[in-house]
Amino acid sequence: MMQRLHPQATNKPARGSLLGIEHMEAKDILGLLKLARRMNPLKSRPLLRNKRVVLLFYEASTRTRSSFELAAKSLGAITCLVLSSGSSVEKGESLLDTGGTLRAVGADVIVIRHPSAGAPHLIARHLDIPVINAGDGMHEHPSQALLDALTILKHKKSFKGLHATIVGDVYHSRVARSACHLLTKVGVPVTLCGPPEFVPEVASTLAPGLRITRHVEEALRGTDVVLLLRVQKERLAGQKIRVQDYVARYQMTAARLKLARRDAIVMHPGPIIRGLELTSEVADGPQSVIMDEVRNGVPMRMAILARALGKAR
Ligand code: ASP
Repeated sequence: MMQRLHPQATNKPARGSLLGIEHMEAKDILGLLKLARRMNPLKSRPLLRNKRVVLLFYEASTRTRSSFELAAKSLGAITCLVLSSGSSVEKGESLLDTGGTLRAVGADVIVIRHPSAGAPHLIARHLDIPVINAGDGMHEHPSQALLDALTILKHKKSFKGLHATIVGDVYHSRVARSACHLLTKVGVPVTLCGPPEFVPEVASTLAPGLRITRHVEEALRGTDVVLLLRVQKERLAGQKIRVQDYVARYQMTAARLKLARRDAIVMHPGPIIRGLELTSEVADGPQSVIMDEVRNGVPMRMAILARALGKAR
């Protein structure tokens, strides 16, 4: 039978897809975290031997792209990287046609990053293979939230009794959105902190148990986890922020960090902009777990890929 050029919408993403945290149940999140704890990139069985993992990236990436690729390779998979620049996307090919093409060349799973919210969901509804969202516009970045949760668990042993504070450009951040969903689902209350352009009042409705404050000193008091965000200049769309004001009021400095619990950890999804959202003293200081987050990205993404391809044992 001739294969359709344009695959039909199934309306249901294939089993194993990871499109966002919002609709995940806490037990599935905890299950994935448990699986990630068993993954070792240096000593792993080739669970995904001969599986083809396509990485389809329409936006810049360093950590997410390299760790998905290394995760896939650690499990014995074959990987193929497709960047929008240099591909037929530049010639005007649609997202769905690109998806269909990648399926036809043999992709078993597609990991996609796209500047438009919902792009991974759209492609997932037209394909019979799992799709993994590696960041869609200002919407979600589920694998980042999961690797951050894994990092918290490794440092704090359990989510019980913890409090988290997210400081910065929440509005434009898919990382913040996914983190809010995940942390509140596993019972961690979250305080959001930033100026109204970055933390609008409506942000508190994102998930139950979110609180907003404009004062970083208040936000930090007694917190266990400080998650900092980059100012997403590429998504500001003409909106001007006064960098000096932001730095004066919200930059994470060693003095401000002292207000948090003594054993609080400092997280940041990267890329970090030293001198803007944090000082180098904080980035490189003893409470920073920023490089652990990067490291944990590999086992976390191994777990996500293994689950996507039905090899999560
Ligand atoms: N790397 C993260 C993302 O892709 C955070 C950032 O870019 O600031 O969303």
